[in-house]
Amino acid sequence: MLIIFDCDGVLVDTEPVSNRCFSEALNREGLAWDVPETMRRLLGRSLKSCIAIAEAELGRALPPGFVDRLQADTFAAFKRERVGAVPGVGAAIDTLEAAGHRTCVASSGDLGKMRITLGGAGLWDRFEGRIFSATQVERGKPFPDLFLLAAREMGTTPDLCVVVEDAVAGTQAAVAAGMRVLCYAGAPYADRDGLVTAGGHLFDDMRTLPTLIG
Ligand SMILES: [Mg+2]
Repeated sequence: MLIIFDCDGVLVDTEPVSNRCFSEALNREGLAWDVPETMRRLLGRSLKSCIAIAEAELGRALPPGFVDRLQADTFAAFKRERVGAVPGVGAAIDTLEAAGHRTCVASSGDLGKMRITLGGAGLWDRFEGRIFSATQVERGKPFPDLFLLAAREMGTTPDLCVVVEDAVAGTQAAVAAGMRVLCYAGAPYADRDGLVTAGGHLFDDMRTLPTLIG
């Protein structure tokens, strides 16, 4: 099997920090989304898609430089707060690869962000060359394009892929791609009802992932 890992919230515990930074940036523009509301609206989507959703809600374009400032603030917070790997995921990858499964990453984030977050968690090197970003496709999650690209680039087909996700948009994307999807719901912000509705099979402990995949 090819195991396709989402990045944020599955490999690295970035979502609390990045959504806090996004919420603060939107608050400064007059959009009063707190962190839970920001997560509910934007979790698992590409930056391009997040900006479009926020601008639609505001009814106007965000100012020039908004994205650059948001990214600078977020990356600084990742480093300052030492964002790390999701508990147990390194050992789960070891076990899966030892069992003969192949692995890759398919994220709504861009490569610059992943270099910081996966690098900080000690995971960049083990995935390098097998890291795919929504910046490589026209339509990000919840569309299937990114997962289909990952399967194609890795030389396999959707029926031989398992996606590991934590967001509703990503779960919808995996289902649309015709792939089995396991949803890590061990984070306090997990939208359990939304993940189940989207067609995901939930699990709460990364140590159980190899057994679930079999
Ligand atoms: Mg995610």
